[in-house]
Amino acid sequence: MAGNKAVEEVLEFIWSQREQGSNSVRQLLGIEEVAEEADIKTLEDMGRAGLVNISGDNIVLTMDGERLAEAAIRRHRLAERLLTEVLAMDEASIEKNACSFEHTLSPEVTDSICTLLGHPPTCPHGLPIPRGNCCKKERGEMKPIVQQLNALDVGESGRIIFIASNSHMRLDKLGTLGIVPGSTLRVHQKRPAFVIQIGETTLALDPEIIKEIYVKKIF
Ligand SMILES: [Zn+2]
Ligand SMILES: [Zn+2]
Repeated sequence: MAGNKAVEEVLEFIWSQREQGSNSVRQLLGIEEVAEEADIKTLEDMGRAGLVNISGDNIVLTMDGERLAEAAIRRHRLAERLLTEVLAMDEASIEKNACSFEHTLSPEVTDSICTLLGHPPTCPHGLPIPRGNCCKKERGEMKPIVQQLNALDVGESGRIIFIASNSHMRLDKLGTLGIVPGSTLRVHQKRPAFVIQIGETTLALDPEIIKEIYVKKIF
């Protein structure tokens, strides 16, 4: 059977493909990155190892495969968030680095990264990050460095680290208002409306938008 890393990569691709509504073996093997790691024999080995079920052109994850794929996807997408937003890497080096270092992250380190980033719901491409134990319970052992805008009190300031929105329209609109990663804002009031000050401008924000803006508090 192929190495662990290759198997993990293939499981991730099966997961991603399913998100796009496909479970075709042919399509899976047609993906360039998959072809580099795996052929039909690799998939059959994975079937014998109890990770996938293959019938004809269909491939689905078994419960064990599902568990491994979910953990691998979670590591990959959190690594992307960390590298893009916190370390400000460019697209090409992110893909290379996210792929190589995600395999070395233990469950504990993965949960720490998740917590530091404020348990982000999506990767920079807008795809969902599977939830971990850290997201389900606030353990309070570690303070997040990045938090939802909501966590700031009136009068506090924060620098925007990322905006977890799938909506390009919304991101564009926020962009024209200067609400982009890197800019600094101050919470002006939280009730009845949530109002921020950014530069010389004060703006009222919709509740859904507030949940999508992740900031690092400035002391
Ligand atoms: Zn992504
Ligand atoms: Zn979490």
